[in-house]
Amino acid sequence: MPEYKAPLREIKFVMDELLDMPAHYASVPAYAETATPDMVDAIINEGAKFCEQVLAPINRAGDMEGCTRHDDGSVTTPTGFKEAYKQYVEGGWPSMTADEQYGGQGLPESMGIVMSEMVGTSNWSWGMYPGLSHGAKNTLEAWGTAEQKETYLTPLVSGEWTGTMCLTEPHCGSDLGILKTKAEANADGSYAISGTKIFISAGENDMSDNIVHIVLARLPGAPEGTKGISLFIVPKFLPTADGGVGERNGVVCGSIEHKMGIHGNATCVMNFDGAKGWLIGPENKGLNCMFTFMNTARIGTALQGVAAAEGSFQGALAYAKDRLAMRSLTGPKAPEKPADPIIVHPDVRKMLLTQKAFAEGGRALVYLTAKNADLVHHAESEEERKAADDMLGFLTPIAKAFLTEAGLESANHGVQVFGGHGFIAEWGMEQIVRDTRISTLYEGTTGIQALDLLGRKVLMTQGAALKQFTKLVHNFCKENAEDEAMKEFIEPLAKINKEWGDLTMKIGMSAMQNREEVGAASVDYLMYSGYATLAFLWAQMAKAAQTQLASGTTEEDFYNAKVKTARFYFQRILPRTASHAITMVAGADALLDLDAEHFAF
Ligand SMILES: Cc1cc2nc3c(=O)[nH]c(=O)nc-3n(C[C@H](O)[C@H](O)[C@H](O)COP(=O)(O)OP(=O)(O)OC[C@H]3O[C@@H](n4cnc5c(N)ncnc54)[C@H](O)[C@@H]3O)c2cc1C
Repeated sequence: MPEYKAPLREIKFVMDELLDMPAHYASVPAYAETATPDMVDAIINEGAKFCEQVLAPINRAGDMEGCTRHDDGSVTTPTGFKEAYKQYVEGGWPSMTADEQYGGQGLPESMGIVMSEMVGTSNWSWGMYPGLSHGAKNTLEAWGTAEQKETYLTPLVSGEWTGTMCLTEPHCGSDLGILKTKAEANADGSYAISGTKIFISAGENDMSDNIVHIVLARLPGAPEGTKGISLFIVPKFLPTADGGVGERNGVVCGSIEHKMGIHGNATCVMNFDGAKGWLIGPENKGLNCMFTFMNTARIGTALQGVAAAEGSFQGALAYAKDRLAMRSLTGPKAPEKPADPIIVHPDVRKMLLTQKAFAEGGRALVYLTAKNADLVHHAESEEERKAADDMLGFLTPIAKAFLTEAGLESANHGVQVFGGHGFIAEWGMEQIVRDTRISTLYEGTTGIQALDLLGRKVLMTQGAALKQFTKLVHNFCKENAEDEAMKEFIEPLAKINKEWGDLTMKIGMSAMQNREEVGAASVDYLMYSGYATLAFLWAQMAKAAQTQLASGTTEEDFYNAKVKTARFYFQRILPRTASHAITMVAGADALLDLDAEHFAF
């Protein structure tokens, strides 16, 4: 079983040297006092200890034991989960990024993301409980009434209560326009919610005193489709006037799913039987409001890709240095041993470097989205807030879908580096594959994210969202055009950046003739966009490292490793875009020609 070690030096590199978070925090008045460099370091170091010492040790046992549902609908989480949650609450972690008015510490979202990465890599299943609460908090903060905030936000912020996101029903997940759960008005201003939600993560648990379900439902006579959906708060226990836990509400966990991975997280069927709920936001605008939750969850899921890459890399690296098999093709590298460690073999190195490039590049991308999220909430001018919001909207589907695909690939490399032992449970590599397999499915499948990126974010804005990003890349290339040491990165990056725009134009033109072309191109387009985005970040990381090397750093090995990993990324990963560039414009015909009834005979 690999031992999790929080990659603090890597985290600091992205925070300080790539994204210049110290300057960012100092420039945002809301953070200038709280997120000082000393405070940021102290919090991250403390968080790392909690993840390494409390969460990582219960990860494997949680996978083996899973959750248990009892006849009364209650659920017991795996041994140690409840106690770890108690420690997490006592440490004040749930309140990190929440509004100070409700007991929060008002720290930046981008600091919360660092903690979420460490939590998620050490124990993804456990991390989903506070992760879902975080989404519920953000939704209430954005859309709740003052009274709802007072009642629900305070205990969610303290961590005494947890939250869930209730969208999916047995007949619909991607297409929420056809959901059936009903909400009927009660005389006292509340609503009676009835229906069945499935696959509800953390839907029931034994960690918290109360569970706040954020539920999509339809009012009587509401328009069909997504325009007729409203959003409700449905607590497990009705709150008392003094903010305590009162009568049991009509919502119970009917069963928990037996599933491929994330066994430590209870995936529940939730039955709502006239449960009392309260409207959040305007009637029939529920999906709009729920986007606050979904966007939080999408960035959270992007982190699962980073977590899978980082966790599997840590395990595979240690093993590859230790495991002996055959000799290097250029003669023994460890002649005193009966064989060389497998890290000498180019193919093993390719797998390790792929994991490393995705983990470090993915971290940079997720932290960049979080920096934009800080600005959406707290930048001083409306113009800056809008620019950050557009950037966040563009990067979110890329981060969610591309990084989870990359995480899954990395997890599979982890198994492969271990050979047959990778398939054996005690090494922990197969758990990462099983746990991370869900990440390309929930919070919008890769296919759905790809449609969001190409359809909504790029084509519907006539390419404006893409141009906002490619302009940054263009400026970076221009600024570094004369830097000889950067040539190997700048030339291919500039080429990809131009090609990205050309391909978008081509798809846009063919989509005007046939809208199926968008669906036919979208996943290739998304993957291409992911590789291109990471290329920009890797080129920037190479530049930051070269700057340090040129100034005579004492950490030569660290910065050289950065440049070498960037080189690997550009030579061995980025060329994958060539294949996506061909297939994304190959047209829809070959996909649509075969009649559905002729797929098999
Ligand atoms: C372990 C687990 C935890 C979950 N947690 C939660 C949770 O907490 N809350 C919650 O509400 N839900 C949750 N979900 C549900 C999850 O979000 C959905 O399963 C997911 O959104 C996909 O929906 P679906 O399963 O109905 O698949 P479908 O929508 O039926 O999709 C099936 C396939 O069709 C494709 N597809 C569908 N429409 C299109 C289209 N227009 N174009 C191209 N391809 C398309 C999809 O990409 C997919 O490949 C969870 C699911 C699991 C398994």
